Amino acid sequence: MLKTFPFGEADLIVTYLSRDFGLVKAFAKSPRKIKSRFGSSLEPLTHAKISLRGKEDAALPRLTQSDIIKSHQTLRESYNCFMRVAGMLELTLHLLPEGEPNPGAFRLLLKALEMMEAECTDLSALLYKIRMLGLAGYSPRLKGCARCGKSGRKFYVSHGSIICEDCIADLSEEERRGARPLSHGSIKLYETLLTWDISKLSRVKASPMMVKELAGMLDSHVEYTLSRQLRVKG
Ligand SMILES: [Zn+2]
Repeated sequence: MLKTFPFGEADLIVTYLSRDFGLVKAFAKSPRKIKSRFGSSLEPLTHAKISLRGKEDAALPRLTQSDIIKSHQTLRESYNCFMRVAGMLELTLHLLPEGEPNPGAFRLLLKALEMMEAECTDLSALLYKIRMLGLAGYSPRLKGCARCGKSGRKFYVSHGSIICEDCIADLSEEERRGARPLSHGSIKLYETLLTWDISKLSRVKASPMMVKELAGMLDSHVEYTLSRQLRVKG
């Protein structure tokens, strides 16, 4: 379960990432009343088996049953850790379309929650974000220049890619805006995190500076990609 949203006095709208239906929203009647049958299964980050009832075309199905598979309580106990995970979930909510199954994204989230319980670091959160962007089809390109393939050290959000020194001359003033320099180490770290076995993340060597650099690049890439999407939809 990713997010709850109060609805009226005692009701909630709950957002899930499900294996079979992708992102789904459901209406939960009165879970905020004491003795609700949903109990703590509606805590954010809880992995639960749920049943929904509603007509196919109904905007919001109703939650009829919710049983905890894993509560992931430890992730809610530390403020810093919870904030890291909240950032991961926020990205997921923004990237995935509602009602479209994405089994890879579902598996990644389950694995990532386990990983965060073992090691709640900025590096783990970064790995999740990089992989989720890939599963949603929005990976930035760091493997060479988008135009000629040569290696480069500056990432341009306008192209979602690195552009090399030679090709920069062709870019307009606007396209050059928001360029982010990346160190060689950060680019290598990115490639590593794309394919690394999640359960062995502790073996990855990454300086805090590299993690920060990549996280900043990803944030601006996501911001640019999503705002462009909004413009297209609007
Ligand atoms: Zn180039």
